[in-house]
Amino acid sequence: MKEQYDVIVIGAGPAGYVAAIRCAQLGFKTACIDRWINKNKKPAPGGTCLNAGCIPSKALLESSSIYEHARLHVKSHGVQANDVQLDLKTMMSRKDKIVSELTMGISGLFKANKIDWLQGSGKLLSNKQVEFTEHGKKKPKITSAENIILATGSSSVEFSAAPLENNTIVDSSGALEFTSVPERLGIIGAGVIGLELGSVWRCLGSEVILLEAQDCFLNMADEQISKGALREFTRQGLDIRLGARVLSSDVSTKGKTSKVIVNYQQDNQSSSITVDKLIVAIGRKPNTENLFTKEIDLNLDNMGAVHVDDQCRTTIPGVYAIGDMVRGPMLAHKGSEEGIMVAELIAGQHAEVNYDTIPSVIYTHPEVAWAGKTEQALKTSGIEYRSGTFPFLASGRAKASGETTGMVKVLADATTDRVLGVHMIGQNCSELIGQAVIAMELGASSEDIALTMFAHPTLSEAFHEAALAVDKRAIHLPPPRKR
Ligand code: FAD
Ligand code: NAD
Repeated sequence: MKEQYDVIVIGAGPAGYVAAIRCAQLGFKTACIDRWINKNKKPAPGGTCLNAGCIPSKALLESSSIYEHARLHVKSHGVQANDVQLDLKTMMSRKDKIVSELTMGISGLFKANKIDWLQGSGKLLSNKQVEFTEHGKKKPKITSAENIILATGSSSVEFSAAPLENNTIVDSSGALEFTSVPERLGIIGAGVIGLELGSVWRCLGSEVILLEAQDCFLNMADEQISKGALREFTRQGLDIRLGARVLSSDVSTKGKTSKVIVNYQQDNQSSSITVDKLIVAIGRKPNTENLFTKEIDLNLDNMGAVHVDDQCRTTIPGVYAIGDMVRGPMLAHKGSEEGIMVAELIAGQHAEVNYDTIPSVIYTHPEVAWAGKTEQALKTSGIEYRSGTFPFLASGRAKASGETTGMVKVLADATTDRVLGVHMIGQNCSELIGQAVIAMELGASSEDIALTMFAHPTLSEAFHEAALAVDKRAIHLPPPRKR
C-alpha cells in the first residue's frame, strides 16, 4: 500500500527541514525527502547551508581570522604570541566536526518530531503524488500527500570559460576542502562567496586575486558601505579587479603540481593571471531540473526558479515552493521563514513573510550587513529621506577592542521618520543588524531608536548614535558643518 502523508517536503535544507519541523509541530504527518550525500558517503540533512555553505564557511572564517589575529594583532594588546603556526588539518577537522554535529542535530530533531526522513530523490508527479527513489535502489516508490512543499535549493552556476577540474578549478564546496594553502588563489566573482572564501584563504596566507565582471563593487549594498568595504578589503590585501571579463582558462600540470592560467579582459586590454587554484563563484541557480514530470504545470522563470506568489503558492493547488528555488535572495533565513509561513498556511493560520526586512550579511572581517532600502534605491524611487551615520572610530567599545574600521548608517523617511534602511560595516555587524531588523519590523522611527537606551560601552551605541545623527544630534561627533 502506498504511504499517505499530510505533508511531504522535498529537500532538507534550512527551508525544507524547518518547514517539516513546523508541520510536525502543527500535528501533520510529515515526510522530508532529501538526497544529500556527505563526503563520508552518508545521507546528511541540512542541505547546502549546513553541509557546504553557511556553517563550514563560517567555521573557517572564524578560525582563519583567529590565526591572522594571533599573528598580526595580539601584539598591540601586549600579548606576545611568537611562532604562531597554522595547523590546517586541525582547522579542517574542527569545521567537519561542527558540520557533523549540526547535521546529526537535524536528524535528531526529525526523530523527535516523528518526521519520516526519506533518504533519496523526490520527484513531483500529478495528483499530489511524489516519486521517491531511495539511495542505492533503482525502483522508485510512490507516496502522496495533501500538501507538497518543494525546497530543493540551489547549486553553483558553472562557467564554460573555467570548467571545474579536479581540485584545481573548484566551486565553493571545493574551496572549503583545500588540503594546503594555495600560494596564489584566483577567484572568479567578487560577490558574497568570493569575498568570504577569499578572506579565509588570504588570512591563511594566500595571495588572492578576484576577477569581477561588473564595474561596480557589491552593487546590492549601499554605495557608501560598498565603497568603504572595497577600500578595507584592498587594504587587507585582496586584489579585486573590477570590470574583468574572463575569457578562458588552462590547467597545466607538471608532475604533481598544477597551475591555472586565467585569461581575461579589462579596460579593453587582454591580461592573464597564473594561480595555483581557481574558485568559480559567479552565483547559484535553482535546483529544478528533473524535479517534476512533463505534465506538471509549474511555471519557471529564465533562471529556473519556480514561480510562486507572496505566500509561496505555486500554480498547482496544494503545492508550495520555498527557499533558494524561488524568487528573492538566496539566504538560509529567508528560506526558513518561508518554510514556517507555508506550514502555518497549510494549518489554516494567517502567516506571512516580510520581504522588506530580510537581513543580508557578508561575514568577512569587518562584516558588512544591511536591511531595507539602500540610499541609491531611495533616490531612484524618489523617496525623500534623511540619513545619519556614525563611525566606529568614535565608539569606545570599538576602540577598546582595537577594531575601529567601519560605520553604521540609518536612513529614515523625511516625512514620517520611519526607518527605511540600515547599513553597516564593522566588527559584529552580523549581530547588530538584528536590532535594525526588529526596529524596522515594528515600524520604528529614527526618533524611537534615539529614545532607546543602549548599554555602554557597546557597539550597539553606534546604531543609537547613527539614529541621533539622522536629526543631526549625535553626541559623540562634532556638529555637522553648516553649508
Ligand atoms: P539547500 O540548502 O540547497 O537544500 C536543498 C536540499 O534539497 C539539499 O539537501 C539537496 O540535496 C536537496 N534536493 C535537491 N533536489 C532534490 C530532490 N529532487 N530530491 C531530494 N532532495 C533534493 N546563506 C545565509 O543565509 N548565510 C550564510 O552565511 C550563507 N553562507 C553560504 C556560504 C556558501 C559557501 C554557500 C554556497 C551558500 C551560503 N548561503 C548562506 C546560502 C544558503 O546556503 C542557502 O540560501 C540555503 O542553503 C538555501 O536553503 P534551501 O533549503 O532553499 O536549499
Ligand atoms: P553573488 O551573486 O553574490 O556574486 C557573484 C558575483 O560574480 C557577482 O558580483 C557577479 O557580478 C560576478 N560574476 C558573474 N558572472 C561573472 C563572470 N563571468 N566573471 C566574473 N564575475 C562574474 O553569488 P555568489 O557569491 O556565488 O553566492 C551565491 C549566493 O549564495 C548568493 O546569492 C548569496 O545570497 C548566497 N550566499 C550568502 C552568503 C551570506 O549570506 N553570507 C554567503 C555565501 C553565499
